[in-house]
Amino acid sequence: MTDRRRFLKASLLGTAASALAWGGKVSAAPASPQVPVATGARVISTWDFGVAANQAAWAILDKGGHALDAVEAGARVPEADLKNHSVGRAGYPDRDGHVTLDASIMDHNYNCGAVAAIEHIAHPISVARRVMERTPHVLLVGDGALQFALEQGFKKENLLTPESEQAWHEWLKTAKYHPSINSETRDYGRTAGKSMGMPGGANNHDTIGMLAIDAQGRMAGACTTSGMAWKMRGRVGDSPIIGAGLYVDGEIGGATSTGVGEEVIRNAGSFLVVELMRQGRSPQEACKEAVMRIVKRRPEASKTIQVGFLAMNRAGEVGAYAIQHGFSYAVCDARKQDGLIPSQSLYTTSYS
Ligand code: ASP
Repeated sequence: MTDRRRFLKASLLGTAASALAWGGKVSAAPASPQVPVATGARVISTWDFGVAANQAAWAILDKGGHALDAVEAGARVPEADLKNHSVGRAGYPDRDGHVTLDASIMDHNYNCGAVAAIEHIAHPISVARRVMERTPHVLLVGDGALQFALEQGFKKENLLTPESEQAWHEWLKTAKYHPSINSETRDYGRTAGKSMGMPGGANNHDTIGMLAIDAQGRMAGACTTSGMAWKMRGRVGDSPIIGAGLYVDGEIGGATSTGVGEEVIRNAGSFLVVELMRQGRSPQEACKEAVMRIVKRRPEASKTIQVGFLAMNRAGEVGAYAIQHGFSYAVCDARKQDGLIPSQSLYTTSYS
């Protein structure tokens, strides 16, 4: 790249940054006539690995920190965990052996950023935040996302660990792949899930979705995953799609999802949950209705897939609902830092 092009690019980014940066400024949560503001901080996350993530977020919330900082710090915990094969470093690769990551972040003022199918960067959630704060865009993908991350000083690394590579080689023995996802890989995934100590013998795909409300009533959310193991190269799930895997509306609340991303995208899942809360549903009712919409639209497919929603309104009320038994979520506030709660679900036994 010529010096002039580099200069023009830097100026563009700089202008965008000053125009769009949240810049750590403390802005008040918008008022809502419908839902009272929470009186204390709280953070919630999907799955059992959300417990450790919540604790990192709580370290920030407890000191009066910003919800956005909290969810970023929390999401980085499973991203760095080598035993977690569905998020960040050590995530299972796609069918061609590439670890590709999806992540998104959003604050209470509709600022959001995301990266999709990014490779070689261990903390996509932090790149997503940079997209939000330092570019005029919302979503960067693939090589462009990697280029931006490197320009921002992120380190390029090999994310495929020997354990994940071995799992991929095992899968290659049959290499059954179907776009509807899951049933062919579930047996293998369940074994892998058990070795990760996941609830319900969870499988080869999971996402950390986090929602936080801070002491000043500001909300933020983060969502990060390596997506479906053995996916087609270039496949992107719901997690980096604002409105699908994550949505936050400071006047109402936030929602996030886990499970087969294609079904969540088809239904704009997290946005739907927030809109249902806007219409007066509790977080629990909203999550259930969003799940039931997926089930009603694709009754056959929904028998063999998992989708779970987790939501919190701005009063700090929490709800969750999943198609299949086994989904859980972690809640952390001033009273309890390590709560893990089984989600309600449509089917009450594990799929088998
Ligand atoms: N939602 C993720 C995806 O489709 C995977 C998961 O959460 O299970 O990429």
